[in-house]
Amino acid sequence: MTASIIDGKAFAAGLRARVGERVAAFVAQAGRAPGLAVVLVGEDSASAVYVRNKGRATREAGMVSVEHRLPADVPQDALIDLVDALNADPAIDGILVQLPLPPHIDERAVLIRIDPDKDVDGFHPVNAGRLATGLPGFVPCTPLGCLMLLKDQLGDLSGLDAVVIGRSNIVGKPMAQLLIAESCTVTVAHSRTRDLSSVVKRADIVVAAVGRAQMIKGEWLKPGATVIDVGINRTPEGLVGDVDFAGAMGVASAVTPVPGGVGPMTIACLLRNALISAERREGVAYEK
Ligand code: NDP
Repeated sequence: MTASIIDGKAFAAGLRARVGERVAAFVAQAGRAPGLAVVLVGEDSASAVYVRNKGRATREAGMVSVEHRLPADVPQDALIDLVDALNADPAIDGILVQLPLPPHIDERAVLIRIDPDKDVDGFHPVNAGRLATGLPGFVPCTPLGCLMLLKDQLGDLSGLDAVVIGRSNIVGKPMAQLLIAESCTVTVAHSRTRDLSSVVKRADIVVAAVGRAQMIKGEWLKPGATVIDVGINRTPEGLVGDVDFAGAMGVASAVTPVPGGVGPMTIACLLRNALISAERREGVAYEK
């Protein structure tokens, strides 16, 4: 059996095009474009690439991208003052502070300062609580993108067994919440999980968000499982996921590749969240 490859790149392109159409409709109604502010602290090269890509994608979707670059030694108070100014700016619908922040800055203190209704990354505890309790808010972009790929692949997820490997606040936990909301039976595995392979074996859906190259082996999978690989690991052989892709292709029914799977969905979902924020703030009708 050979699994099909889930083409996240193509799905993300379609989503970005749909966002672009809705942005045009928003501009016609509201008389302005949605605005997304991205704050980058320091010189981390991977972060700089992410910020550049987000800015480009934002402009391509017809939105305004405002980039703030602060030196690595910026005092925490100055960063918080900038967040306050962006919270108060009516032209800004979404605020994203690129992580990681330098060690002298308390990440939580900064993230909690972002107005939850402009928190398009969905990292604010208020948005985590909204997700957990079924209220409208903002869902973190990476797990949201994973869910879109799963629903596109499988349709109704209700009753399926899902295993999420990883319990971070930005991927694993919100992914588990989304799958619970879809009526899956959800297991969350992490570094203390005993006998991970047998936990994975019972899953119809496997979402791997660990950060360990090719850790999830093909023979761990239930035949016919759908596998979403969030991991991005740089190795001497290039970029690889958390799943042994070749092994998984022989057992699963569908697998996301790395690169070209989940990665492109993250930015597309960010654009979607920024548009929805603008629509909500202007009282323009929107779809969930
Ligand atoms: P974190 O490091 O915050 O979390 C990793 C999780 O994996 C933790 O819950 C940890 O458990 C668990 N873990 C570590 N080792 C093992 C193990 N041996 N067995 C089982 N579980 C284990 O990472 P993130 O959630 O931020 O990211 C995960 C991966 O996804 C990374 O590769 C990252 O680069 C990638 N990523 C990709 C994105 C994209 O756009 N495609 C976006 C965000 C992340 P414990 O809690 O017990 O320590």
